[in-house]
Amino acid sequence: MKVYECCGVESVTKKVYCSTCRQEIKNEREVSDKGTVYSFTVIHIAPEEFAHLAPYTVALVQLRDSTAKLTVRIQESVQIGDLVQLEEIKNGTYIYQKVRTA
Ligand SMILES: [Zn+2]
Repeated sequence: MKVYECCGVESVTKKVYCSTCRQEIKNEREVSDKGTVYSFTVIHIAPEEFAHLAPYTVALVQLRDSTAKLTVRIQESVQIGDLVQLEEIKNGTYIYQKVRTA
C-alpha cells in the first residue's frame, strides 16, 4: 500500500496539504501491507450494516515499513503485537487477517 509523507509524518490517508508546513504533500512510497497490532477493540454491538459480523475486532495496525498506523477490521481475535496482513479492501474498509501470534 502507499504511504504519503511530509515533515517526517507518514500517513496512509492522502491529504492534499501537510498540516505542519501547509505545503502540498508530494512524497509517496509503496510499503508492505504487513504490520503489527498496536491496539484493538472488540466490537460486540455493531452498527446495523455490520451486525452480522459481530463480534469482530477493530485494530490499529502499525505498518512494518512505515511510521504510519492504519485502522482495520479483523474477524479473528488478536492480541497486541500480533503480525497481520491485508486480506482485502472492502467498501473502503481495510480487512486484515492474522499471520502470526505475538
Ligand atoms: Zn510538511
